[in-house]
Amino acid sequence: MSELSTMILDRIRDVPDYPQPGVMFKDITPLLADPVAMAAVVDELAGLDEVDKIVGIEARGFILAAPVAYRASAGFVPVRKKGKLPAATLEESYDLEYGSATIEVHRDAFTPGDRVLIVDDVLATGGTAEAAVELVRRAGGLVVGIAVLMELAFLKGRERLDGIPVHSLVIV
Ligand code: 5GP
Repeated sequence: MSELSTMILDRIRDVPDYPQPGVMFKDITPLLADPVAMAAVVDELAGLDEVDKIVGIEARGFILAAPVAYRASAGFVPVRKKGKLPAATLEESYDLEYGSATIEVHRDAFTPGDRVLIVDDVLATGGTAEAAVELVRRAGGLVVGIAVLMELAFLKGRERLDGIPVHSLVIV
C-alpha cells in the first residue's frame, strides 16, 4: 500500500451503527483535521486528470472538491440534494436501501464539452456517483473520471460505473 493510502486509512475512523444500526460508517473528519494529510490528498486528486470543472457531491464531496478545483485551476460545480440550488436545474433520482434520493445540478453549470472530474469522499453502492455522472452528461459535460478517498469494494459500486475511470485513494 502506498504511503498516501496508509496516511488516509490511519485517519478514517469506523463508527458503528451510524446512521442506522448495522452500518459501519467511515468518518473522514480526522483526515480533514490533519493539514499534512489533507494537502497530500488534495494534491493527489488535483493531479489525476486535465479538467475544466471539478464536481463536488453534497456535502462531504464539497470539502474535497473545492480545494482540488483551486489546486487544479479548474472551476467548481456543486451537485446538491433536491431543492438547494437556486437557478434552473436538472435532476436525477436513484434508489437507496430504503426509499430514494434526488440530486440536482444547475442546467448551465458546464460549457458543452467541458472535461469533468467528479469528487466525493466515499464510493459505496455507486448509486450517488452513477446519478452524478448522468447529471453531468445531461448538462453537457464530459465525465473523465470519478475520484474518491475511499471505495467500499464489497458494495461493488465500481460495477455501476462501467467505462468510467474510478480513482480510489484507498480501497477496503
Ligand atoms: P453510494 O451512493 O455509493 O451508496 O453512497 C455514497 C454516498 O454516500 C457518498 O456521497 C458518501 O458521502 C455517502 N456515504 C455512504 N457511506 C458512507 C460512509 O461510510 N462514510 C462516508 N463518509 N460517507 C458515506
